[in-house]
Amino acid sequence: MSCSRRHFIAGMGAVIFMTGPVNRTLAQTMSINGIRYGMVYDETRCIGCTACMDACREVNKVPEGVSRLNIIRSGPTGEFPEAKYQFYRHSCQHCDNPPCVDVCPTGASYKDAATGIVDVNPDRCVGCQYCIAACPYRVRFIHPVRKTADKCNFCRDTNLAQGKLPACVESCPTKALTFGNLDDPNSEIVKLIENRTTYRAKVHLGTEPKMYRIPSKHGEIKG
Ligand code: SF4
Ligand code: SF4
Repeated sequence: MSCSRRHFIAGMGAVIFMTGPVNRTLAQTMSINGIRYGMVYDETRCIGCTACMDACREVNKVPEGVSRLNIIRSGPTGEFPEAKYQFYRHSCQHCDNPPCVDVCPTGASYKDAATGIVDVNPDRCVGCQYCIAACPYRVRFIHPVRKTADKCNFCRDTNLAQGKLPACVESCPTKALTFGNLDDPNSEIVKLIENRTTYRAKVHLGTEPKMYRIPSKHGEIKG
């Protein structure tokens, strides 16, 4: 891993973002220690190879039959030889206002104050599935072995704990994924969001997702 990537994992000083143009700025959120991890998925770079899905399953020991990350293909649009497929990443959005956390009766679902990552403590989960019902992005599932709620946690207890990038980011051959600190104005992810057109899914719900997308489509995007 490069020094700059280690740098953002180590974290930076606290910063509060103020908004500029509405569609190109980060949500206004104050982090506790200056780290608020997010991700950009560049739909224009994704080729649908599913290397990210395989790496996620291997690193996080996700059993067959369930998945923390899916790449959904749609299309084709256009006609041969110009026909093209489009790809969409389906995974936890790491909402700053996560309804899955609000409804959890045991505190098993929580937002980690040190990183902004939404995670599940399996030792506290009773498998009631309230969080699964509350998530508007439909990304949670019951782990078939542990019988507790599960989903993407940006590899918080695996790759991140070892000072590495999330497995999906590491494995992507086209660099379609950028992970980093949304509260660091010098981070690669912030510069990417500032300089490219992005959208987030279902922002009208007030969940403040930290998954940004660079659209492959033209015109209005119905997130
Ligand atoms: S996407 Fe769903 S599971 Fe992830 S933080 Fe948001 S509400 Fe919770
Ligand atoms: S590894 Fe990268 S290119 Fe392949 S499906 Fe995942 S995001 Fe898309």
